[in-house]
Amino acid sequence: MALNFSCCTSLSLHNQVDCIDCAADASVVSAVNEGIGAAMDIVPLRRPWVMISVNDDEDLHFRKAAFDPSDCPLDCSRPCEAVCPANAIKLEEGEFLQGGVINERCYGCGRCLPVCPYDKIKAVTYLRDAAATAELIRRNDIDAIEIHTNGSRQTASFEELWNGLSDSISYLRLVAISFPDLGKSTTMLMNSLFSIMKPNLSCYNLWQLDGRPMSGDIGRGATREALAFAVRLASAEDKPPGFLQLAGGTNAHTINGLKKHGLYQSMSTGTRKEKSSLSTSLIGGIAYGGYARKIVGRILRNMESEHGLSCIEDHPEYLREALEEALALVAPVKCYNDGSPLAPSPLP
Ligand code: SF4
Ligand code: SF4
Repeated sequence: MALNFSCCTSLSLHNQVDCIDCAADASVVSAVNEGIGAAMDIVPLRRPWVMISVNDDEDLHFRKAAFDPSDCPLDCSRPCEAVCPANAIKLEEGEFLQGGVINERCYGCGRCLPVCPYDKIKAVTYLRDAAATAELIRRNDIDAIEIHTNGSRQTASFEELWNGLSDSISYLRLVAISFPDLGKSTTMLMNSLFSIMKPNLSCYNLWQLDGRPMSGDIGRGATREALAFAVRLASAEDKPPGFLQLAGGTNAHTINGLKKHGLYQSMSTGTRKEKSSLSTSLIGGIAYGGYARKIVGRILRNMESEHGLSCIEDHPEYLREALEEALALVAPVKCYNDGSPLAPSPLP
């Protein structure tokens, strides 16, 4: 089972769909599908949707750290290595420093950039080509796309990307748009984006509120900005149709925060009609990125230190621990504790 550090899990409360979000890269998508297949052989869960992420312009989620280790002073205390939450920097001493950033693990959080005392680390942004993305979607093993937009060039770059995806959109079951809090202009941006998408949008659409990007692993406070963003958007009357999903700073404290603000309602209560009206007024889902990476990463590191680089399904004790952590995180949203038919069987 390939476990990719660029993945995050998102889930929608009202239609009980889970998405595994990954890089828009053919080999990563294949690895995620392979991982889902291996997981489903072990735990009888409903197959999650595979979602790819792309950006229409420069975006924090689409950058990697880079530096030349041979350029680093040998006596540097290497704070970059210590601060990286993804263990993506590995350095070895020799005649000069060797190693550097492990690209597959770096998810662009940027925490190594300010800690380098010699200013050696740069952020390299990348932009996914629309035509290549459309070709990947047409392979037909992807269910959803997440488009990150920052609104800085209004909607021109989004329109360019959307038009470039052309008919591949019809292969999808969900289109998610991730965007930052732009204050009063936020709903204006959402409406402009929706009017671009509307003519060829024939699936679900979701607005992902990126409160404090890639910060969920930092602690309780990180979730406040996402919650504040959600409170404002949930009550905005001029927003376009679509589910609202929280991201950026989400962690184990997010559900309690939603409850406190009256924005949380589990699937286990309410009539069908009530549930359907919830989708327009409350929060439709939560995306866990950095926090999910943190809990699973800790288990993978422990496994790696005991067994070296290996597949987690070959080590049932670690697999069980990872599943228990993951289920504990999503259980309050998925109603796993209330006898819902979607509850997974007890772990073996
Ligand atoms: S950007 Fe973040 S994930 Fe990437 S190497 Fe730096 S600290 Fe690690
Ligand atoms: S902190 Fe800067 S100088 Fe030191 S090892 Fe890391 S990149 Fe090199």
